[in-house]
Amino acid sequence: MRPDVPFSTPPRRGLRIGVAGAGLLGRLMAWTLSRQGHQVSVFDPAPQAMPAHDGHGAAGFTAAGMLSPLAELDTAEPEVAHRGWQSIAHWQAIADELGSRCTQRPHFARNGSLLVAHGSDLGAARRVLQRLEASSTAHAQVQLHALSAERLTQLEPALHGSGGPLHAWWLPGEAHIDTVATMQALHDDAEGVRWHWAQPVQDVAPGQLWLGNPGQTQPLSFDLVCDLRGTGARSATPVRGVRGEVVWLHAPGLTLQRPVRLLHPRHRVYIVPRPGERVLIGASELESEDRSPMSLRSAVELMAAAHSILPELAEARILRLDTNLRPALPDHRPEVHTEPGLLRINGLYRHGWLLAPALIDDALQSLQLGRLPT
Ligand SMILES: Cc1cc2nc3c(=O)[nH]c(=O)nc-3n(C[C@H](O)[C@H](O)[C@H](O)COP(=O)(O)OP(=O)(O)OC[C@H]3O[C@@H](n4cnc5c(N)ncnc54)[C@H](O)[C@@H]3O)c2cc1C
Repeated sequence: MRPDVPFSTPPRRGLRIGVAGAGLLGRLMAWTLSRQGHQVSVFDPAPQAMPAHDGHGAAGFTAAGMLSPLAELDTAEPEVAHRGWQSIAHWQAIADELGSRCTQRPHFARNGSLLVAHGSDLGAARRVLQRLEASSTAHAQVQLHALSAERLTQLEPALHGSGGPLHAWWLPGEAHIDTVATMQALHDDAEGVRWHWAQPVQDVAPGQLWLGNPGQTQPLSFDLVCDLRGTGARSATPVRGVRGEVVWLHAPGLTLQRPVRLLHPRHRVYIVPRPGERVLIGASELESEDRSPMSLRSAVELMAAAHSILPELAEARILRLDTNLRPALPDHRPEVHTEPGLLRINGLYRHGWLLAPALIDDALQSLQLGRLPT
């Protein structure tokens, strides 16, 4: 996938670029291109830049923001882990840059993550760990550090009070990011970008973009069009939505430094800390394009599983039950398509935050449009 561009080729500047989609990919792309001196226009059906959390809009806002190249090897290929490590380096640099220019640096932390299992589930947990170790490659080396109860208490005192003894493994190097704050900062810091809200893009072609306005017969013309519409790009690619649900909690006094995943035969739940004493419990994965509110079953299962490892959550307050669709292609791999005048990226599925910077960086290089910060 890496392009064959001479290292010294200077990036092109001053292009007119149309971006379809103001989700995760669209915002990261617009922010990057605007900094390279291009004239960027972004079109999205959302009424405004910040989400309503109503099941519609960008999946990027709903995402938990786990950047877990190793833990994801349970279901993903080693290439995802390889791209994931590259993306983590980019996110670190992007968060620092946003922090130096915006009023608040979006929260990004690289404290590793924890896998935990109740004693009764050790067999199932071991099978997951074996799969992770079997996926280990030169680019994606899996280092699982089994933790003693004492070491676990040192790392995450909050896990000490769980109902019974927890088995735990530490995955160093993994990270997490505040998705909502980062999406907002990418928008606010994208100087000169023209954001066109309530403007769905009907179709795209090299250098051309059709809006959904009734009666519009002529496309808008650009030097480059980026099709980053996620599940909205069905006219161009066989994308489908895979439903996911997350619970937002306010948990005063709870301190958690890193994401925690429960290895359980049925309930694969993770808990991700967010600034402001909030935590996010995620995520269901349902083969459905239903955007309606969360089901009782999902709410009960997610919260009961999270409570089983963090009993302190009992008094937490439920802030929001959020749902959205992950954009997935039939093979569950991301697609990056470039041709003169057109770039399309889609199918980021459950790894959008883990993959977006690495994929965009590659695409920019192949189009001679510069690089992402690293
Ligand atoms: C519950 C849940 C949890 C997740 N957790 C994680 C996680 O922990 N880590 C991780 O790496 N990933 C996670 N993801 C995945 C990640 O959110 C997605 O892979 C990522 O958001 C995809 O980025 P995107 O820009 O392609 O799509 P989106 O972020 O969905 O953005 C697509 C944009 O296109 C717009 N659009 C739609 N139709 C049109 C149209 N006709 N014209 C113009 N614009 C249009 C939409 O309004 C939207 O703004 C999670 C996803 C979900 C749902």
